[in-house]
Amino acid sequence: MSLDIPLSTGSKAAEIDIHIIDVLRHRVGKDERAAKPHDWYTATVLTLRDAVIDVWMETTRRTYENGEKRVYYLSLEFLIGRLLRDALSNMGMTSEMEKALRDHGFDLTALEELEPDAALGNGGLGRLAACFMESLASLDIPAYGYGIRYKNGMFRQRIDDGWQVELPETWLSHGNPWEFDRRESSYRVGFGGEVMDRGEGVEWLPAEQVEASAFDTPVVGWQGKRVNTLRLWTARALDPIRLDAFNAGDHVGALVEDARADALVRVLYPADSTPAGHELRLRQEFFFTSASIQDIVRRHAQYDGDVRTLPDKVAIQLNDTHPSVAVAELMRLLVDVHGLEFNEAWDVTKKTIAYTNHTLLPEALESWPLPLFERLLPRHMQIIYAINSRVLREARRAGLSDQQIAAISLIDEHGERRVRMANLAFVGAHSVNGVAALHTELMKSTVFADLHALYPDRINNKTNGVTPRRWLHQCNPGLVSVLKDAIGDSFLHDAEKLTDLNALADDTVLGERIAEVKRSNKVALAAHIKQLTGVRLDPDALFDVQIKRIHEYKRQLLNLIETVALYDQIRSHPERDWVPRVKIFGGKAASSYHNAKLIIKLANDIARRVNSDPAVGGLLKVVFVPNYNVTLAERIIPAADLSEQISTAGMEASGTGNMKFALNGALTIGTLDGANIEIKDHVGDDNIVIFGLTAEEVLSRRSNGYNPRAIIEGSRELRQAISAIASGVFSPDDPHRYASLMGGLYDSDWFMVAADFDSYHAAQRSIDTRWEDQKAWRASAIRNIANVGWFSSDRTIGEYARDIWGVVPQPT
Ligand SMILES: *Cc1c(COP(=O)(O)O)cnc(C)c1O
Repeated sequence: MSLDIPLSTGSKAAEIDIHIIDVLRHRVGKDERAAKPHDWYTATVLTLRDAVIDVWMETTRRTYENGEKRVYYLSLEFLIGRLLRDALSNMGMTSEMEKALRDHGFDLTALEELEPDAALGNGGLGRLAACFMESLASLDIPAYGYGIRYKNGMFRQRIDDGWQVELPETWLSHGNPWEFDRRESSYRVGFGGEVMDRGEGVEWLPAEQVEASAFDTPVVGWQGKRVNTLRLWTARALDPIRLDAFNAGDHVGALVEDARADALVRVLYPADSTPAGHELRLRQEFFFTSASIQDIVRRHAQYDGDVRTLPDKVAIQLNDTHPSVAVAELMRLLVDVHGLEFNEAWDVTKKTIAYTNHTLLPEALESWPLPLFERLLPRHMQIIYAINSRVLREARRAGLSDQQIAAISLIDEHGERRVRMANLAFVGAHSVNGVAALHTELMKSTVFADLHALYPDRINNKTNGVTPRRWLHQCNPGLVSVLKDAIGDSFLHDAEKLTDLNALADDTVLGERIAEVKRSNKVALAAHIKQLTGVRLDPDALFDVQIKRIHEYKRQLLNLIETVALYDQIRSHPERDWVPRVKIFGGKAASSYHNAKLIIKLANDIARRVNSDPAVGGLLKVVFVPNYNVTLAERIIPAADLSEQISTAGMEASGTGNMKFALNGALTIGTLDGANIEIKDHVGDDNIVIFGLTAEEVLSRRSNGYNPRAIIEGSRELRQAISAIASGVFSPDDPHRYASLMGGLYDSDWFMVAADFDSYHAAQRSIDTRWEDQKAWRASAIRNIANVGWFSSDRTIGEYARDIWGVVPQPT
């Protein structure tokens, strides 16, 4: 059923009430009195969804009627988190829904806790895709997101005795009221087999096929202007059970095809910034890419009848190299199925596809062993060879050297031959973008230097952003209400209007009101952390937060060593006027990443020792919050005073956590890396604390015999902290637990912890001094909020729209 009465008029709460009771009876199958909280949760989502569907159908019809160009965002990850508050708020139904539920004795906030956090991503890359989907809808751009409907998604992290334990995330175990099963949108995806050339064109005869079948989730834009589609693929065996085998008693063998299909969509590889390198990962990549490209081409061909006009109506954006086989798959469909000449197909492909690079870490650039690629995708391998020969001929004609040509080649010929997915994406795209200004410059001078020499106009920058709806409006309603009183509500529609706050930065009353909101967010977080970990936090202490994937380049270790140094100093000089600090850590480590898991254990070991030491007298508390995800980020970020963005310069492509914190009034302590640089440019040098080597200095140190041992020996604080950790002060149960982790700092220290330690330590003490002047701190916090509206994903998407996709965004 649909809402007969338009929701925009009349008494919305009363209409919602009638509707929700109807949904509860007829779709959930529960009487109002018998319904349990989870029934009310489902009824709430379905009621809201009904309103969303009306907009969805209307906007889809409009897109077809006007023949509008569509954007297709292909991403192996969508870290969407919970959807209820997002959709309610964008539909403008929050207070009415609250009232309707309250009349039945239910609290919306409590029901929201029943929604699983959809963790279909590792970290920043997946969250970016989710923010982009929301901004695309908010800017009224017709768009689809394409990905995989992982049955388990990212693992759930439990901390047992300080160690990370990975558990399956069962977000679908009670169904998912947001999604629609679109079994009519299904495609066959092949693997292996052989390629036949019978004279009238080439045909791929796969040895194995699975069916990709679509599930659609509506994505609501700000003020319900447009609803786009997130289409996630699941896999089914063509022949789910072989009855002959089953009846003959082979019950397992009869189901093997089903199990193989299921494996494709079971888990997200839990590796961030490192390659998974497994055959199943390549299968996942091809599975979702092929289904998506088939869907895109079918939709266009149905509408237009001519695949040659594809670039006029379709823009495909590849989120990192994971979907870069799209280049070969689109070529295959155009040439083998639609009969285009190779050259024509190549032209259409390049005009349609664009690629976003997310990492410069050489070990994270995807490549596949050539024999594996050829066995799994024989026709795509032929196409890649054909593309490669064209590209290398162009390079030769352009006068590039043999060495440059070898670097450009789609095939890495060093040692075991491999297919380079980043090079494939680069040559098959008309646009290749980095995600922050520094990252884009480093792309040109390092990983893609030779491709950039051949195609100098292709690389461009699109600095990342975050959606202010989720990362300000929804996660920090208290702050929003104070801001509205101060500058009106235009910033709700355009985050860059927050700059109006600059005029009020020194307004004591505003500073105090914002500080009150911060304090109440801290009280709420402290209660939550008490419940999760048992650790009691003082809301008047400085909340110093590092939450993000655990990775050596992000340098949680630098923070932990500095924490130990501070702990030492507090014990040695208890008489000094220390600023009370709470160190909050959170983040998941890839299950195969030994050092990252050890860093989690170290954080927990330090926490146990520090928190139970009466000598620090509550001046320092350390806590590791388990299972960092979007929902937890939404609780922690509004309560942070200090945002730790301390990666080794040149290694964090952009970061987006940095933007969320600043938007919620935290000051940043950070290196000149990724988007930190642009945040500094926006908030001003006086409102951010920068320390450490620059990216250039890191590179030059590395190539000029960096000697961490000498640095450690020359720094008393650093030496003592490292030696305390290495000698088992924090791990009396296993004194050598950290010996090799600390030894690594002396011997190689690739991430330059030692080089940056003294400067980081001094920067932390300068933070203490700032904190003591609360008036100045508050003014800085206001200047942060005021000047980071530019980091809205609306601005980012606006730039993609104009510069890459050729579509026109509508102002929010
Ligand atoms: C924003 C976000 C990230 C990215 O954080 P960085 O600090 O940029 O690495 C990762 N995970 C979650 C859950 C996020 O919300």
